[in-house]
Formats: sequence, structure tokens, C-alpha cells
Amino acid sequence: MMTLLFLILIAILVVFGVTDIRRQLISRPAFAFFKRVLPPLSQTEREAMEAGNVWWDGELFRGAPDWNQLHSYPANTLTEEEQAFLDNQVATLLTMLDDYQIVQGDQDLPEAVWEYIKKEKFFSFIIPKEYGGLAFSAHAASTIVSRVASRSMSAAVTIMVPNSLGPGELLAHYGTDEQKQQWLPGLASGAEVPCFALTAPTAGSDAGAIPDTGIVCKGEHNGEEVLGIRLTWDKRYITLAPVATVLGLAFKLRDPDGLLGDKEDIGITCALIPADHEGVQLGNRHNPLGMAFMNGTTRGNDVFIPIDWIIGGPDYAGRGWRMLVECLSAGRGISLPALATATAHLATRTTSAYCGVRQQFGVQIGEFEGIQEALARIAANTYTLESARKLTVTAVDTNQKPSVITAIAKYHMTELGRSVINDAMDVHAGKGIQLGPNNYLGNNYIASPVSITVEGANILTRNLMIFGQGATRCHPYVLAEMEAVANPDTDAGLKRFDSLLISHIVYAVRNAVVSFGHAITGSRFAAKPVAGPTGRHYQHLNRLSANLAIMTDISMMVLGGSLKRREMISARLGDVLSQLYLASAVLRNYEMDGRQQADLPFVHYALEQATQEAAKALDGVIRNFPNRAVGWLCRALLFPLGNHFNGPDDKRKREVAQAIMEPGCLRNRLTHLCPVDEQLNDGITELEQAFLAQRQVAPLHKALKKAQRSGLLSRGPVSEALLAAAVEAKVLTEEQAEQVLTAHALCRKAIDVDEFESL
Ligand SMILES: Cc1cc2nc3c(=O)[nH]c(=O)nc-3n(C[C@H](O)[C@H](O)[C@H](O)COP(=O)(O)OP(=O)(O)OC[C@H]3O[C@@H](n4cnc5c(N)ncnc54)[C@H](O)[C@@H]3O)c2cc1C
Repeated sequence: MMTLLFLILIAILVVFGVTDIRRQLISRPAFAFFKRVLPPLSQTEREAMEAGNVWWDGELFRGAPDWNQLHSYPANTLTEEEQAFLDNQVATLLTMLDDYQIVQGDQDLPEAVWEYIKKEKFFSFIIPKEYGGLAFSAHAASTIVSRVASRSMSAAVTIMVPNSLGPGELLAHYGTDEQKQQWLPGLASGAEVPCFALTAPTAGSDAGAIPDTGIVCKGEHNGEEVLGIRLTWDKRYITLAPVATVLGLAFKLRDPDGLLGDKEDIGITCALIPADHEGVQLGNRHNPLGMAFMNGTTRGNDVFIPIDWIIGGPDYAGRGWRMLVECLSAGRGISLPALATATAHLATRTTSAYCGVRQQFGVQIGEFEGIQEALARIAANTYTLESARKLTVTAVDTNQKPSVITAIAKYHMTELGRSVINDAMDVHAGKGIQLGPNNYLGNNYIASPVSITVEGANILTRNLMIFGQGATRCHPYVLAEMEAVANPDTDAGLKRFDSLLISHIVYAVRNAVVSFGHAITGSRFAAKPVAGPTGRHYQHLNRLSANLAIMTDISMMVLGGSLKRREMISARLGDVLSQLYLASAVLRNYEMDGRQQADLPFVHYALEQATQEAAKALDGVIRNFPNRAVGWLCRALLFPLGNHFNGPDDKRKREVAQAIMEPGCLRNRLTHLCPVDEQLNDGITELEQAFLAQRQVAPLHKALKKAQRSGLLSRGPVSEALLAAAVEAKVLTEEQAEQVLTAHALCRKAIDVDEFESL
């Protein structure tokens, strides 16, 4: 037996150690196999793949995350100027927003709000100071948009769009000096309102397939014959289009007469066109679920524009797709995550308050376990969202363009936001449904599908982008192997492939061994980068990261190019990566916030949920793996003793729910994006006041109940008569009775809904 093992070992060493034998027996067949199974990348896929870079996602993908790297990313801070803007301009804007009137009444922001946001440069966060912009950090922009979204989604979207993918950002990155001088000061001051039109009726998710064309030709502009483009387009769903003064347009450029060079199909190109340019049609509005932000169509037929209206000038003809993908990657990491987190802060603040204010069956609804379960989900998901918001903007603020991470943020944060607002609506029940000036949830609930759809619809983002890009971008070897296989010089390609393959095999074996080892020991021997109550979570994440790495290799090896079509498998692998990202964001947030002990229930809940989701996704891949024998082998490797990631238990849920129902600095910190302020004088602030008043008189209610049980007072709800009797029986002082009455009146007002004589 020993001799046989020895001979096998020698054979392995010879095969892998002697270059010629290895190339002949391993690398050449593998090279041929890869050449056969790897699907050719389309130009748009290649550009999407090459745009952006790899950041923390690379660590999570490779099976052994360097946690020190995560904790060394800079903290999220605001400059004095940014903080002052939040405290003044944003605070003032919030007092000007009556979202019910905006949405149900005017279907537009009031004129005074338009003027204010332009005058105070709300459209200029990404414009450099030299052009009159505010040049705020991504963290500041995200915080501002979130605060506004806690009061009005329509106002937040209006502010968000010029600060996201669009003319301002494209000009700042790629514009010529002349174009910057011409447009950026006007965009910064609000004199110009931009929109950006990519989507066409026949090209939504597949934006690379836009039918809108531009033909390079000569034409007349300002009385002179110039080189230019004759454009025809038909775009829909364009935010701010109905009020835009400058239109960013994406189209496919062709040069049949060779006026720009020898290439006929130049490709996707972006240009800036003044809205009043002859032939430009703008103005028609869509109705996006009744929200009041401007959204509509733009069309043009044979519209001539000079060639230097291409963003970046003629040199950038055909480079539009890459420009869009790069800018989209940054934008996706800021705006939609901000909207989702704002909705979550709104939901947590108001639902935790409502749980203390609303009574049924004689007790506050927050005492029912069913409500506590929903409230715990709301609060813990809010903690995750805030953590992910902060980590993702850190990437943007440190000049990264992590396309995989921003796709994760876009998908998972908008989905978590949707889940949170759904739970909040369930807890509020009728109070959430009846629209009116006092309904603080309805518009955010109605708006949630908008975030799900825009900037890469969610099903596509989950199924195609996260793992599709992650597998090649974040994997330490696959992209290089693909390049080696695609090398037209086959010998050079094989040589490179051979050296990569050896490292790849070592890497895969390591991840397989680590996965199995951690599975049978419950990750107890995995590295713990920090001591204390969160250490165990790092161990589990190390195990799941190794699991992801080995499952990725096995899936790619067995399924090859067909993995791209098997979206249900690849999306689940993407889910593992995403949950690792959300979990690591939570751990980073806990460290950044100075390890607040009070946050621990939220941290544990979020981590237990994320690891449960990641393990569920792995289990789903294994269960549905097309090759059953391989599936069985994977189960033996990853879950030999079963899947023990059970998620938060009932005790944890109670703990989180009770913590968030406690007024004070923890609750204020976890809901800071939804401020309450007497000046705002809205339903949210009234509810908060009722909640605080009710909490203050809780001991007095106890005394009343005790007296009722003992027969000293008659049974029944709080009323003036009961309180008078309580004073007479010396259960309460007059002052205390007054406090109970005031709290009672505030609670009554807070549970009221709006009513109308007619609609
Ligand atoms: C309110 C609003 C504002 C917008 N603002 C702008 C703007 O300012 N500028 C602009 O250019 N565009 C804008 N859009 C367009 C937006 O980006 C598109 O709606 C989005 O790209 C999706 O296109 P679609 O709606 O046509 O869906 P479709 O492309 O028709 O998708 C239908 C479904 O198929 C799924 N799907 C598609 N391909 C795949 C795949 N390969 N795998 C799995 N699922 C897939 C999608 O996820 C979706 O669920 C806006 C849209 C809305 C609703």
C-alpha cells in the first residue's frame, strides 16, 4: 500500500514538475478545452469587463480575505463645508418639501424649491470648484441625497440625476477644456439643467443595441459648412428630459464616407446638444408610478450637429460605451444605495416609534412577537444598508471604480430597501396605506420599483453582472488565462497558460482543503483578525470565501461557457460574493464606529443573516448542479456535516427589536438619515414626539394599570374621567395626569390618517 502511494506521489511530481511532460499531458489539453468552451466576448462585453477595477471584491473572491486591508480603508468623514451644507441648505430644503402636495397635487416641485436647489448648487456636487461646483465627496453627496429622500423621493431623484451619470460627470472626466468651460459653470449654477438619454424603446437592458444613429457628414452650422453628424434618435424614460436645457445623447456613429478615418462603424458615441437646437424634441412626460420627478421622451430626425459636440471631441468618437460603463459604475455606488438607505432609516425611525404609539388588545403592538420579528428585520437590514452605503462610497472616494461592488450595491441595497419598506408597511397596516399629508411611508413604498429598474434592472444585475463580471475580474487567474487562450500566437499563449495553470491548480487545491477543513471543524481554527465578540464571524466568512473560490473553479471547469447561460447557478454564486460584501461592510462599520457595544445585537443579526444567505446560495448551487456526481462531491467538500448556518434566532430578534424601540442615542444614530426636527412639523416629527412622550409616561401607565387591577380604579382606556379618578385616589399627581393626557393626545394624533370630503 505504502509503495503504491509512493509511486502515485512520484508520478504526480513528474507530471507537474517536468515542464515538457506537464505541458503535453496537462496544459495542452486544458488549453484546447478552454479554447473550445470559452464563449467569444462581444465588444460591449469586453468593454464592460475592462471598465472599472477590482477592490475589496477581489479579496472576498479569492478565498482568503486580508481583513487588515478592509480595516485600513479611510473612514467616512465630512469636511466642514459639507457638514455646514447639511446643517443649513439641506435642513432648509427639508422644510420646503411637502411631498403630498408635490406628488398628489402639483406633480412637480414648487417653483421656490427649483429656485432654491439651483441657487444653492444642489446640482453641482460632482463639478470641480474651478468651474463653480461644490466638488463634494461621494460620502457627502450620498448623505445629502439620503436626507432629502427621507422626506421626498421626487426631490431626491431630481437632485441625484445631475450628480450621477450624465453630462456633468461625462464632461468632468472626458470633456475637452473648451467643453468644460462652455458647460460646467452653467451646470454648476443651475442655469443649465441636464439629462442623459441612452434608453430606446427597443433597447433597455441591452443598451448596446440602441438603434439611434449618427452619420458623419458635412453640413451647415452658424452659416458655415462644417464637419458634423446627422442624428436620428427616439429615446424614452429619460429623467429630467421634460425640463432639460442640455441633452446628453448616446447613439451609434457611422462614417460611410471615411471623413473621420478608415473605420465605417465607429460605435457608441456620446454628444451634448443644447435643448433648443433645431430639430431637438423634448418635453413630453411619462408618469413613473405617480412620482413627480421629471421623466419623459426625446426624439430627433436628421438633426445636424457639429463634430465637436461629441463629449471629449472627435477623439472620443466610438468610446461612448466605455465612458458610460465607467461612470455608471461610480454612480451606481452612490445614488441608488443612498435612496435605499434613506428609505430604511425612515422605515426604522417611524416603525419603531409606531410600535410604541399604536395599541391593540390593550398593549403596544411592539410587544407582539410577530411585530418584533418584522421590526428586527427592518432595523438589522437598516444597519446593513448603512454599513454598505459607507463602504461603497469609500471606494468611490478613493478613486476606485469597482464595477462588481457597485453592481452588488445596486442590486442588494435596492432589494434590502424594498424589503424594509414592505415590512414597515405591514407593521403600519392601514396607517401606511391611506395616502395624505400625514402618510410618511406611502411615496417611498410606491417609488421602490423605480430604483429596482433603473441603472441596470435588478434581475439582469443579479443574474448577469455580479458573478459574470466577478468571476473574470476578481478571480486571480481566469482573465489572464482567457487572454492567454485568445493569444493569436498559440505557442506564446500556451507557455503563459501553462505557468498560470500551475498556480491556479495550487490555488484550487488550497481552497478545497481549507473548505473541507473549516467544514469539519466549524471554522474554529480559521484566522480571527480581531479579538472580541465579532471574531467568530470572521472565521465563518473566511470559510465561505474559500467555499466561493472553490465552487467558482468547479463551476467554470465543469460548465465552461454554458455557465453564462445558466443564470440560476451563476446568480447564486454572485449572491455568495454579495453576502460576503454586505457582511464585511457590517464588520467594518462596527470597527469604524468604535466598537459600540450597543450595536452588537444588530451586528450579530446582520452577520448571521448574511452567512445564512450565503450558505443557502451555496446549497442551492450544489443541489441544482447539472452534473449530479460533481454536486454530490461538492456537498461532501463544503457541507460534510450539513449546513449549520441557521440565521438569527428568536432571542436575537427580540433583542434587536427591543433595542430599536428604546429612545436615545443608539436609535438616533441608526436613523440619522431621517432627521426629526420641530421646524419640519410633519408626520414623522409628530410621531416621534408622541413616541417620546409615551415613553416618558410609561411608568405612570403601569401605576394606573396596577390600580385598575387592584380595583382602586375602574377598568378602561385612558380618559379624562379615569385620570381625574386617579388623581383623587392619589395614584397620580395632577401634573402626572396632565402628562398622561398630553401623551395620549399626541398618540391619538399620530395614529390618525388623512380624510377628504372628496378626492
Ligand atoms: C423612472 C425611470 C428613469 C429612467 N431614467 C433614465 C435616464 O435618465 N436615462 C436613460 O437612458 N434611461 C433611463 N431609464 C431607463 C432604465 O435604465 C431602463 O428602464 C433599464 O435599463 C431597463 O430597461 P427596460 O425597462 O426596457 O427593461 P427590459 O430591458 O425590457 O428588461 C425586462 C426584464 O428583463 C430582465 N433582463 C434583461 N436582460 C436580462 C438578462 N440577460 N438576464 C436576466 N434578466 C434580464 C430585466 O432585468 C428586466 O427585469 C429610466 C427608467 C425609469 C423607469
